[in-house]
Amino acid sequence: MTTEIGVLGLQGAVREHLAALSRLGIAARAVKRSAELDGLSGLILPGGESTAISLLAGEGFLARLREMADAGVPLFGTCAGMILLAREIAGQSITYIQAIDITVARNATGRQVDSFETTLSVDGIGDDVPAVFIRAPYITRMGPEVQPLARHEGTVVMAQQGNVLVTSFHPELTDDLRIHRYFLGMVEKYRQEVQQ
Ligand code: GLN
Repeated sequence: MTTEIGVLGLQGAVREHLAALSRLGIAARAVKRSAELDGLSGLILPGGESTAISLLAGEGFLARLREMADAGVPLFGTCAGMILLAREIAGQSITYIQAIDITVARNATGRQVDSFETTLSVDGIGDDVPAVFIRAPYITRMGPEVQPLARHEGTVVMAQQGNVLVTSFHPELTDDLRIHRYFLGMVEKYRQEVQQ
């Protein structure tokens, strides 16, 4: 089995994730249609605009992503990608893939002009991980199976539940590859499990 990793390629920071994976020696591919999900050992859902991504994807595609999450395929959502993966979205009844038991508040860091870069302490990764926040969602509730991995000013901005990893921020807009490498570790673990 080859390590095939996809980046949801409908809208948003698609190229930046592909570039980060390529710097780690992984030839990932952009995925635009549900049939292209077959055979993937991992998928990144990039930042961008969650409403736009969901409309471009459509119900059938989102349902396939839900099946992949249930089947244990590692998924990594950054910013809008985290919104797509969340079980609940504060103030709106529409939800999408519902693969991680969190509630997110959209645009919690304010407007585009309020974007900022900071460094975070991330469990198991380092205490100086650079993170770019752009109209970022915050995690306002976590279910008992969700593990918080990083906080910004007391609010959780990175979390994991089993095969699903989410960040409020954009690691792909920095030169630091440690969060992508962490996700590749999840993919490697999954591959070993399915090979047994
Ligand atoms: N504000 C966007 C949304 O709600 C997310 C922003 C981002 O991905 N940088 O979808």
